[in-house]
Amino acid sequence: MQTSGTPHPDHRQSPFRVVVLSAPSGTGKTTIVSRLLQEGSVKLQKSISATTRPPRKHEIDQQDYYFLTNETFRKKLVQGEFLEHAEVFGLGYYYGTLKAEIDRIKGEQAWALLEIDVQGAKNIVQHYPESITIFITTPSEDEYERRLRSRGTESEEVIQKRLATARRELAEAKSYKYRVINDELDRVVLEINHILL
Ligand code: 5GP
Repeated sequence: MQTSGTPHPDHRQSPFRVVVLSAPSGTGKTTIVSRLLQEGSVKLQKSISATTRPPRKHEIDQQDYYFLTNETFRKKLVQGEFLEHAEVFGLGYYYGTLKAEIDRIKGEQAWALLEIDVQGAKNIVQHYPESITIFITTPSEDEYERRLRSRGTESEEVIQKRLATARRELAEAKSYKYRVINDELDRVVLEINHILL
């Protein structure tokens, strides 16, 4: 059987796989994701999640997220359109992976890259036990806090909640197949590409 660590002579022909990437926010995972999409060792497509969180200034609907109202999100939930969903950070915002997204990516002969939280990752692994789960960590908790603050987009209350979530998430990192330390961007991209081979 082909395992995730075994190089494949032509990975485009490999069976469909789900790659789950989780990281505390502020870890720089957005940059890592765009590098992987551009120059990945396998053909990857990002699964665009649905969320009830309002868009940030630079974010584009249907590209960064499907930005939905609470009502639309709930309707889709009731209709069974989500593969998984979770309330992240305890701020009342919901996030979820749409089944239609995974089908779309599968149809394009690509692997699905899911940038989701630890609760979501657990649910995805139940659906797709062959998922490649990767947890990205910062070199230290202090460094994580520094990066989160330097972004300057969140209030102190939100920062504190994110730090608490990050602590919990770091404790969960053990359950991922791979853990990657985000020390240097090029090295991180190389390491993840190697994992995907
Ligand atoms: P942000 O609001 O910073 O874009 O994302 C907040 C958190 O929500 C991140 O930890 C991200 O991984 C998580 N997230 C984004 N989309 C989904 C999703 O579809 N499902 C789950 N479970 N978490 C998600």
